[in-house]
Amino acid sequence: MPEGIDLDNARTREMVQELEQCILSHSAWLKNLHRALLCRLPPNPDDLEPDAHCRCDFGRWYYGCPHPGLPAAAGFRSLGEGHHTMHDRARDLLHKAGAGAPLEPADYDRFIDLSIAFVSRIRDLQLSMVARLSDSDPLTGIPSRRGMLPRLAQERERSLRIAQPCCVCMMDFDNFKNVNDIYGHQAGDQVLRAAVQFVATLLRKYDSIYRYGGEEFLLCLPDTAPQGAKNIVDRLRAGLEALPIALKDGTSVQVTASFGIAEIDPGASVEEVIARADRAMLAAKDAGRNRVLLWSDLAPAKRAGWSG
Ligand code: GH3
Ligand code: MG
Ligand code: MG
Repeated sequence: MPEGIDLDNARTREMVQELEQCILSHSAWLKNLHRALLCRLPPNPDDLEPDAHCRCDFGRWYYGCPHPGLPAAAGFRSLGEGHHTMHDRARDLLHKAGAGAPLEPADYDRFIDLSIAFVSRIRDLQLSMVARLSDSDPLTGIPSRRGMLPRLAQERERSLRIAQPCCVCMMDFDNFKNVNDIYGHQAGDQVLRAAVQFVATLLRKYDSIYRYGGEEFLLCLPDTAPQGAKNIVDRLRAGLEALPIALKDGTSVQVTASFGIAEIDPGASVEEVIARADRAMLAAKDAGRNRVLLWSDLAPAKRAGWSG
């Protein structure tokens, strides 16, 4: 499955809320810490422990993180490190205050700067998750077309820089109008969602998939030459053809799709490569549907997109 996809978006939504809760808990913790320092009151004993960073609400959430993908997220590790150091500085301040020693402005500044940086890191992580939610298609949970071109442009750059092939594949469900006509639009939605999620789970970690239009999806297969891409995509095609999709009323539906593949090419823009994959997909429709064709295997007229 491609990295960073949360098919029902539920975990990502949960994490956004949990991070919000972490910010609120941190504010409450900070208030109590200031209260103890300014009013010379006994601190929370947990804040004096060497593992104070594991005892606060954030620490319990962070070190018992229930979201398996999160520790790999950009900034997650430095968030924990910054939080740990912030607690160390807070403990120093509390010890000094407890001993009746004067608090140095530089010590306070170091602590408060760490606290500000900590909240800002949580916000960054939260914003990256909100961006992921707003870039994902609500029906299928995969990334939407928004943001697709810049990401494909990055893949193109990378492929040319490291001189490794990269293929783009257009996938379009066959006779999908019939599914809606026979079973209804809601059942059609259910079929589309199950079929696309099936395809997404078969893709490799560094592949990507986007909802291009209604029942059209775009795949990107880095480090893959056309023939290899054809083999991979043909396995997806065969898996999809054999997949029984259960509707809510117990009916089982099967669908197929047609696929067209084009290779990233230094002489062609991303848009042109997508158009080539689309022409290969249309040729697969013409050839009888439920098949995979390479743009490079098309006759010259079809490659150029001439009709007739
Ligand atoms: P072909 O094999 O030539 O692609 O035939 P098709 O019926 O799939 O193609 P056509 O473009 O005529 O119709 C696409 C259908 O897909 C019609 C449209 O209502 C349906 N569709 C597109 N997006 C969705 C969606 O989000 N949900 C549902 N239920 N149907 C959708
Ligand atoms: Mg179709
Ligand atoms: Mg279509």
